[in-house]
Amino acid sequence: MSCREKARGVSGVRVCLDPGHGGSDPGAVYQAIKEKDLTLLLARQVGAVLNNFDVALVYTRQGDVTVPVERRVAIANEGGADFFLSLHVNAGGGTGFESYVATRAFERTLRYREIIHREIVAFLVGYHVPDRGMKTRDLYVLKKTRMPAVLLECLFLDNPGDRALLLDRSFLGGLAKAIAGGVAQALELGSDPCAELRTRLEQLEKEVARYRQALAAIRDTAAAALRNQA
Ligand SMILES: [Zn+2]
Repeated sequence: MSCREKARGVSGVRVCLDPGHGGSDPGAVYQAIKEKDLTLLLARQVGAVLNNFDVALVYTRQGDVTVPVERRVAIANEGGADFFLSLHVNAGGGTGFESYVATRAFERTLRYREIIHREIVAFLVGYHVPDRGMKTRDLYVLKKTRMPAVLLECLFLDNPGDRALLLDRSFLGGLAKAIAGGVAQALELGSDPCAELRTRLEQLEKEVARYRQALAAIRDTAAAALRNQA
């Protein structure tokens, strides 16, 4: 496998990230803030962290587009995902975080959910965000996906304290890290063999740029010296 074609990774594990809502479906709305934008932002950040691991990612949407739940399930099922993670932001009077699996979820799904839930709560404790618990609900995307599926309801858009956190970039980044960390731990993902090479390549590119600068300075000095001699 070349690093360019990280189609399925070495391990072959594939995760489907599902940013809730999108397009004509804004999800929860508070003034100009829409759930669909927050879920997409969060999914992108979760994906960015997961890219450091040996895993291939599939998204149900990458932009502000309408994707019916049937299509989301089809993307996961046909894409051969090993795990489905749906990201949402809650509303309706409340505060905190909760996670969902289908009522007839398999033991493996429950185990994955528990690990991910625990990681997120460990992060949220630092912000005094309440843990509303591990719940079950037969939501379409949880019931119809053919792989372990978990849905996260991350804080309440209509709660001032929760909303302030959701709009705080460093909080959202930390939350994404906790979610991705939980997924990596649950699925026992190894580190991405290409990540190390990418880091080394970036270092080399920086070194080359420094050498180029140094070389240009030497040329300038030499040219000036020649001009002075002439
Ligand atoms: Zn939602």
